[in-house]
Amino acid sequence: MKLFLKKSKKQWKTTVWMCIFSLMVACLGFTACQRNPTCYQRIDTAMGTVVKETVYVEKGGEDITAQIRQQIVTLEDQFLSRRKDSAEIYQINSHAGEVQGTAVSEPLWEILQKLLEVSERSGGAFDFTIGETVRLWDIDSYAAKEKEEVVLPSLDQIAESLANTGYEKLQFQNGRINLPKGMQLDLGAAGKGIACDAVLTFLRNQPHVAGAIISVGGSILTYGKKPDGTLWKVGIVDPQNPSDYIGGLRLEGQWCVSTSGDYERYVEVKGKRYHHIIDPDSGYPADAGLLSVTILTRDGMLSDALSTACFVLGYEESLELLQSFGAHGLFVDKQGNVMLTPGMEMYYVPR
Ligand code: ADP
Ligand code: MG
Repeated sequence: MKLFLKKSKKQWKTTVWMCIFSLMVACLGFTACQRNPTCYQRIDTAMGTVVKETVYVEKGGEDITAQIRQQIVTLEDQFLSRRKDSAEIYQINSHAGEVQGTAVSEPLWEILQKLLEVSERSGGAFDFTIGETVRLWDIDSYAAKEKEEVVLPSLDQIAESLANTGYEKLQFQNGRINLPKGMQLDLGAAGKGIACDAVLTFLRNQPHVAGAIISVGGSILTYGKKPDGTLWKVGIVDPQNPSDYIGGLRLEGQWCVSTSGDYERYVEVKGKRYHHIIDPDSGYPADAGLLSVTILTRDGMLSDALSTACFVLGYEESLELLQSFGAHGLFVDKQGNVMLTPGMEMYYVPR
């Protein structure tokens, strides 16, 4: 008994310390739980497309999702829109043919230089000076059901619009850009990817955001981690049945995924589909044997621009281009075959 009491004193001491320790652990657990990121979701429209946001954030989630949308709206209004007169692209287009050209802000200058590089390296398959031809086809208006009676452009009209197209005709000097008369810039093929880049910059400055997956139309940004540790899942739409998926990409951390497909915006005349991705060589909707192309890179603008370029080029012609940019590709051809570049294989899981 004496022995027991003697030991029990020691035991008491241990027990008290264990209690204190357990309490500390419990408290820590409680704060960790308090801090556990909560999932906020928001579906909205911006840039003429659907924006879906899922953000894991410790606090202020609603504010963060609203600010993300605002980033995209500002980008469109200030720089990229060809319809809003507040945007630089609108201003540049409206001064086409004027000798003095138009002053370009630093952020847009940087964007245009990078896009020029994609135009050059894709041999002009991606060409953001194609605005006049895009306007001529006006596929967006049919897709949005703003126009019902379909009038396809004539060969002469197409030839005329192509005469005013060509990135090599652009002149950049002293912070100004000169467009030849009749040329119109259209950043539609890269805008959603540029939006993903802007959102990424914003998220990197938000210490409370643990992870996020944001889709701006066909371009998707993944960032950080999910609290449960599972990978991001990005579905790949089945171009033959766009309400379904052919599979998905499993991604860890920060990536950008962009898809271009003939099912996104189109009009059908006598059983033939005319879609919104134009081959700058012919002036007609691109027909390189593909239904869709998905590109995976770290950079949103690049993934978006390359998805359009590769759709125009076709599978074989795209491989070298993708390799040179260190980008991965998934192609679906007209027979429904799925082709992957070697770097894509580890991320793709078919359904
Ligand atoms: P989405 O806009 O549906 O994501 P894309 O990224 O492929 O699809 O971009 C298609 C848009 O880009 C068209 O609506 C048009 O505005 C513009 N565009 C069409 N063809 C080309 C091209 N060859 N190069 C650059 N821009 C293009
Ligand atoms: Mg694109």
